[in-house]
Amino acid sequence: MSGFGMTVLGSGSSGNASIIHSPEGNILLDAGFSAKELERRMEKCSFDPSSVRALLITHEHGDHTKGCRVFADKYGIDVYMTSPVCHVAEKNGFLPEHYILFAPGDSFCVCGMEVRAFSLPHDAMDTVGFVFRYGEKKIGVATDLGHVNTLIREHLKGCSILMLESNHDPDILRNSSRALSLKRRILSRHGHLCNADACAALEEMITGETRNIILAHISSECNNCEIVENLALQTLAKLKREDILLKVALQETPLGSFYTA
Ligand SMILES: [Zn+2]
Ligand SMILES: [Zn+2]
Repeated sequence: MSGFGMTVLGSGSSGNASIIHSPEGNILLDAGFSAKELERRMEKCSFDPSSVRALLITHEHGDHTKGCRVFADKYGIDVYMTSPVCHVAEKNGFLPEHYILFAPGDSFCVCGMEVRAFSLPHDAMDTVGFVFRYGEKKIGVATDLGHVNTLIREHLKGCSILMLESNHDPDILRNSSRALSLKRRILSRHGHLCNADACAALEEMITGETRNIILAHISSECNNCEIVENLALQTLAKLKREDILLKVALQETPLGSFYTA
């Protein structure tokens, strides 16, 4: 894979991982599957796991860190994480041998890409989204956020490829058998983004640059891909942007690759 783009290896509450690729190398974004499963999914997408140059962690939840230590140590790569996440990693046994600390708001360069981290409102120690720039193009990723604020909107506006959470349908969630405390947590401003909020955010983030939208972290119990897709297609129709390629990321199987050009 040589162009600037991204490949979603899987997304959902049981595991999240994607690859951001530039002509200068590959970055793994989150490692929410076992190292073995990460390798299997990469090979399925024609990526050599040893081509991964760095791992970026969005936050400490297990669906983003399960394979972090084993994968990073096996391939001897640096793991970028914030300091609060690093403390949890140390306590919970997923701290890799090589790690580099960053703070929300920081920019750094990996594989020729400028990486910018920004805070997301989520019920973890420290959660970030990322924007990746290579040349004139931009890729943005934000999963695990309870609501969208101005800062997030500004960062994610005008991405060629945008991956945004569309976690749940609030009615399905309210009627589900989940514990009341969990329902409250998911619905809160520091929980997960519902379908309608994701679509409202898309309306403000899509610009003439936008080519691909990926909706991700879909709840297996409290959502379904058809609802997500239909609502987002309605949004694209409203914006007269049916030219944008819309995809829903799945838990069980990789989504494949998207390129900015
Ligand atoms: Zn989370
Ligand atoms: Zn998550």
